Amino acid sequence: MLKREPAPYIGRFAPSPTGPLHFGSLVAAVASYLQARCHDGLWLLRIEDIDPPREQAGATDAILKALECYGFEWDGDVIFQSDSQPVHEEALQRLLERDLAYPCGCSRRDLADLPRGPLGVIYPGTCREGCDATETAIRLRTNNQPISFEDSLQGRQTQCLEGESGDFVIRRRDGLIAYQLAVVVDDELEGVTEIVRGIDIIDSTPRQIWLQRLLGYGTPGYVHIPVVTHPNGDKLSKLTGAPGIGLKDVAVTLVHALSVLQQKPPPKLHAESLSSIWHWATENWRLEAMQGLQAICHESP
Ligand SMILES: [Zn+2]
Repeated sequence: MLKREPAPYIGRFAPSPTGPLHFGSLVAAVASYLQARCHDGLWLLRIEDIDPPREQAGATDAILKALECYGFEWDGDVIFQSDSQPVHEEALQRLLERDLAYPCGCSRRDLADLPRGPLGVIYPGTCREGCDATETAIRLRTNNQPISFEDSLQGRQTQCLEGESGDFVIRRRDGLIAYQLAVVVDDELEGVTEIVRGIDIIDSTPRQIWLQRLLGYGTPGYVHIPVVTHPNGDKLSKLTGAPGIGLKDVAVTLVHALSVLQQKPPPKLHAESLSSIWHWATENWRLEAMQGLQAICHESP
């Protein structure tokens, strides 16, 4: 009988160079890294550098340096999302040619008074039948067939896109390819089999799955890990003043990240070398320790 090799696991970490790596992103990086290592898989590092207005000079170098300092070992070269821009454009053209997407000339002001849902403005399809504006975004057509997926930590998720987000932007008015399209194309290009990322993006996942279906791609597995918050409940992010992670005392910070991930590291683990800490973490990784958790409050060690 023919024995089939199991499909190789390919995971990734995909920071945007909008600032240095803060503790919340470190936690996400650790989770995706351990999940890949435990599956004897590959862990790719992709810098999502296709939104120059939001980028910060030097952020890419700072992120790479921090990841190196913490002992992450990515497979292959660092991938820059900007290198796959021609493939993003190709995907966009395919959607336009098949009339699955259309130009939208609505201005920010036109959109301001529209009803909003948890995903933001619910676009009512104003330009579906055409618009004569010269400067346009491109939106993807949606319908109300429920889109569901099984998240390994958060359980079954379902959205009906037309009612919850409406037709959504895949190329912005400023000409830049929107995150939703770029991330889907890149994960397909790189053969990513499981996406481990913060729960703050879980609401985007059905839109990404819809794009995968229209482009004829497969859908990877999804793991949305709890968001790390300040003691007051605010998400740790640049906006809430989360500083870049320090490059001193990396062992202490790494062990703290493991305890935030509910891994219960032994009390003296931070006194060990980085490679022993990673060894312990890989041997003892239990994703399911975070089952159903949506937020974890963090106080600095
Ligand atoms: Zn419009």
